[in-house]
Amino acid sequence: MPLLISADGVHSTVARVLGRRSSREVVRALGAELRMAPAMPGMVELVVDRELLPGWFAWSIPLGPDRVRVGVGTTADIPPARLLAALRGLFAAQFAAEPEPGSYSAGLIQLWAPGNVINDGVMLVGDAAGQVKPSTGGGIHSGLVGAHHAARQAVHAHARGAFDRGALRDYERRWHVELGSEFRNLNSLRSIYVRLGQRRFKALVGAFGHPALGRIIAEQGDIDFPSHMFGSLVRAAPSLLALAGGRAGAAPAPARLRGRPATRPDGRGGPRRRPARGRRFHRRLAGCRAIFV
Ligand SMILES: Cc1cc2nc3c(=O)[nH]c(=O)nc-3n(C[C@H](O)[C@H](O)[C@H](O)COP(=O)(O)OP(=O)(O)OC[C@H]3O[C@@H](n4cnc5c(N)ncnc54)[C@H](O)[C@@H]3O)c2cc1C
Repeated sequence: MPLLISADGVHSTVARVLGRRSSREVVRALGAELRMAPAMPGMVELVVDRELLPGWFAWSIPLGPDRVRVGVGTTADIPPARLLAALRGLFAAQFAAEPEPGSYSAGLIQLWAPGNVINDGVMLVGDAAGQVKPSTGGGIHSGLVGAHHAARQAVHAHARGAFDRGALRDYERRWHVELGSEFRNLNSLRSIYVRLGQRRFKALVGAFGHPALGRIIAEQGDIDFPSHMFGSLVRAAPSLLALAGGRAGAAPAPARLRGRPATRPDGRGGPRRRPARGRRFHRRLAGCRAIFV
């Protein structure tokens, strides 16, 4: 029996033929790379606007001294032309500095949902396997983790001369050992996030400005394993659950968050600022400036 490693992306034909259950949450995203100095080097900027970009956010990521990657996303059925207008509007200063960007990228981001990624003679990897972080839509790290374990399993299976489902099962198991509980936690956090109104959301982010919580964010913030930090925040301030709209007895997720400790604490907390109604405001969160409009 031959082995097929299917890494054919979000529109994977192989995943479809295998009947892999895909996530109900799909983000339409549009990004651009601009040749210009970042306004805040070393700082990722997020823009949350629930009317303009329902269900998702916009981002600006410095890539070096003279390159910036910006993007917008939404889970709503918004036509690409409106997404482009949103991108250019939200980052007007950047686009004014460079009339035409170096390159655009657009596509669907299918957020992770539990599902089968192996079959007899087949391993799905990356977006094809739905290995995409439910919180940020990032699929590069988790896809590479998948590629690592798939390659390893392919070598083992080849040495044993068997590519049936049983021989490939360890690929699925190892990916879950490394990322499964984190992704389940992020799924729970995402389901809380989508239920939050703008007012509660702003209140929550405002609460993160408390010095004690800022310290936890600075010490435990980890872009690849963020859920451990949220668990610590809720343990330090159980009232966050009420702010998030959960009841202590029926806490949706944070009180039950599991996961490995953060391994790469590299963020910084920041001073508290009171959000101003109807105005843009921002807060530093673990190396990330979030703007809410
Ligand atoms: C606008 C946008 C911005 C993003 N930003 C980030 C980010 O900042 N960080 C991050 O971690 N993730 C980001 N992502 C998600 C990330 O791009 C994907 O998770 C990642 O590229 C998935 O890699 P992949 O190799 O699984 O799939 P892909 O990158 O889609 O690669 C699949 C490849 O398979 C090829 N292919 C398809 N069918 C066939 C076939 N039949 N035969 C041969 N080849 C085939 C395709 O042409 C493609 O080259 C972003 C996504 C979008 C849409």
